[in-house]
Amino acid sequence: MFTLALCRPRATCRLRHGWDRCQAWSCRGFSTTAGQGQQVSLQVGGDVEMPVARREAETLFQERPEPGNQYLEDALLRSYLEAHLPPKVLEEVSQELEGFGNRLLTKIRPLGWECELNPPVFRQYDAWGQRVDHIVTCSAWKRMKEIAAEEGLIAEAYERRYSNWSRVYQAVKLYLFSTASGGFNCPLAMTDGAAKVIESLGIPASLKNAFDHLTSRDPRKFWTSGQWMTERRGGSDVANGTETVARKQPDGTYRLYGFKWFTSAADSDMALTLARIVDAEGRVKQGSGGLSLFFLRVRDEEEKLNSIQVQRLKEKLGTRQMATAELWLNGAKAELISAEGRGVASISNMLNITRIHNVIGAVASMRRMISLSREYALKRVVFGKLLKDHPLHMQTIARMEVRLPGAELILKKQKEDKDPQ
Ligand SMILES: Cc1cc2nc3c(=O)[nH]c(=O)nc-3n(C[C@H](O)[C@H](O)[C@H](O)COP(=O)(O)OP(=O)(O)OC[C@H]3O[C@@H](n4cnc5c(N)ncnc54)[C@H](O)[C@@H]3O)c2cc1C
Repeated sequence: MFTLALCRPRATCRLRHGWDRCQAWSCRGFSTTAGQGQQVSLQVGGDVEMPVARREAETLFQERPEPGNQYLEDALLRSYLEAHLPPKVLEEVSQELEGFGNRLLTKIRPLGWECELNPPVFRQYDAWGQRVDHIVTCSAWKRMKEIAAEEGLIAEAYERRYSNWSRVYQAVKLYLFSTASGGFNCPLAMTDGAAKVIESLGIPASLKNAFDHLTSRDPRKFWTSGQWMTERRGGSDVANGTETVARKQPDGTYRLYGFKWFTSAADSDMALTLARIVDAEGRVKQGSGGLSLFFLRVRDEEEKLNSIQVQRLKEKLGTRQMATAELWLNGAKAELISAEGRGVASISNMLNITRIHNVIGAVASMRRMISLSREYALKRVVFGKLLKDHPLHMQTIARMEVRLPGAELILKKQKEDKDPQ
């Protein structure tokens, strides 16, 4: 015999809060017969009105910080653009950035939250036992892809409307987009990197179609790209860690066999990856001199995977909105796009671009945290006065504020010095 009390809203509240508190939470009696012949006795109860004081204790009654238009509120960013951009360019991009700031505030950030709340799930089999390896993403994630195209977040850099300033303008948009993007900034980093690699190869005819998709402003055409380097022996040392091999086919294409252990944005349309070409005697060259760069589509026109099996999605601590997978390549059809043995050198363009995106994301996160802290300090009252009137609190925010311009200036200097145009 044992007593089972059902408490609303959490059946586990007896464990968490103790019985007294549980009773105050409107408990009801419950009587039934448990499995294996055990009798569950009736706990006589009734709805108990929850005291007002308790209710208050359960809820955080603070006014939420609500930063406004990120572009208009970022004095440092605006002063940088005013100091550096030619007046005509400044006039045009300022208007566009103000509009983008409004779109971020009203439309994009809520979608970003949806992505946070609905991470991708992996469906390996269909209802009839067929292996489908379907990575299911939420509608907000799909919408982010469309928005990225509409806003030209990749296209801007390659259209060069503003000559070399296009990269700066693109970086500013990515910076504003980053913390609202629900993790979509990651696929964009790799997409930009892939477009840069293809451009640096002179946009060969066989890659023209891919380049057009990667740099499109048309949401129906826009592609994202993955960057598959890390294998199970590690990520930093790809020269020694890459086991994937490429076998040449009579039609000049290659088939890839191997295990890519950390592939982010696994729902992407294409990928660039490294592999070792198998020679006529069946041997491969070790070290970085044995690595070549390949282009492949992830799925065919019928959405079937390109001889790829998804082993699982990673259980990550962060960036959970984005599908990062372990992939088996079981003869994936691919095209060699670098000179043989020049894979690492060729993919370096991609790494340089994704590194810049990483810096943009890091500085954008600093900016977002400071904006929230500042806003909150204007609203939150503690010990009888607003947070902003507490010297120690303001000292902490001031220290953060000082570090941010430093980080922003390093980012901008990097863009000026190493502009990858
Ligand atoms: C969220 C997430 C997403 C990822 N997405 C992708 C992806 O899409 N595609 C992909 O290919 N990979 C991806 N990775 C893998 C990532 O790129 C690797 O984790 C990275 O390359 C480091 O490799 P590792 O984890 O094997 O670390 P290790 O190579 O084991 O390195 C361990 C530590 O040693 C340090 N170290 C290594 N070599 C040196 C050296 N020579 N000198 C000094 N220090 C050194 C490293 O900095 C690191 O701190 C992702 C990882 C994460 C966390």
